[in-house]
Amino acid sequence: MEIVAATNNAGKLKELRRNLEPMGYTLRTPRELGLDLDPEEDGTTFEANALIKARAFCEAAGMAVIADDSGLEVDALNGAPGVHSARWGGHHGDDEAKNVKLLAELAGVDRAARAARFVSAVCFCLPDGRYFTYLGTCPGWVDFAPKGTNGFGYDPIFVPDCTGTADGRRLPNTAGRSYAELEDWEKDAISHRGEALRVMQARLAEDLAAR
Ligand code: IMP
Repeated sequence: MEIVAATNNAGKLKELRRNLEPMGYTLRTPRELGLDLDPEEDGTTFEANALIKARAFCEAAGMAVIADDSGLEVDALNGAPGVHSARWGGHHGDDEAKNVKLLAELAGVDRAARAARFVSAVCFCLPDGRYFTYLGTCPGWVDFAPKGTNGFGYDPIFVPDCTGTADGRRLPNTAGRSYAELEDWEKDAISHRGEALRVMQARLAEDLAAR
């Protein structure tokens, strides 16, 4: 099935592609379709913002769309940056500046109080108006300094509680590797986005049949 990825974020697009193509989807990008959209994400939840993006791209493309709204919730910051992860501190597009800001906000916070989780809301939307939203989370903590070069966004400072194995199992992340130190498949197996997309894969056919 051909589906439009409702994102202009290159890192997210890469992850959507590598997770969705093995599931049988052919991913089309906004750029390929000549869509230059940046809908205002003024929802207060990941689900609401995923729907805003999915609907905007679905109306413009007239095709099935998948949108992901995601972010990092840090307990010591009362859940910030949360739904504001992309533009936190006004640093839209500057991942390094956001990581520096987050580490500075957590200066003096000890390991036990650095708990955090990534959340992803994935919205599958059809031109007939039907939409379905699926959630994934990945618990972990915010490290004291960036590590690793893979991935994007907050990957270098987020240490997930588990890493993934090739056969889909989870192992405790005893080495304390950051998201950015994991191989692509290791991240996908345990990531918030990987989980939301697997939930979608498990439920979508039934959800479509029911509505
Ligand atoms: P949005 O969903 O496009 O509003 O942006 C989500 C923001 O959260 C991204 O710009 C990143 O800063 C961050 N983010 C979401 N998922 C990830 C991830 O897998 N790794 C690192 N940062 C992420």
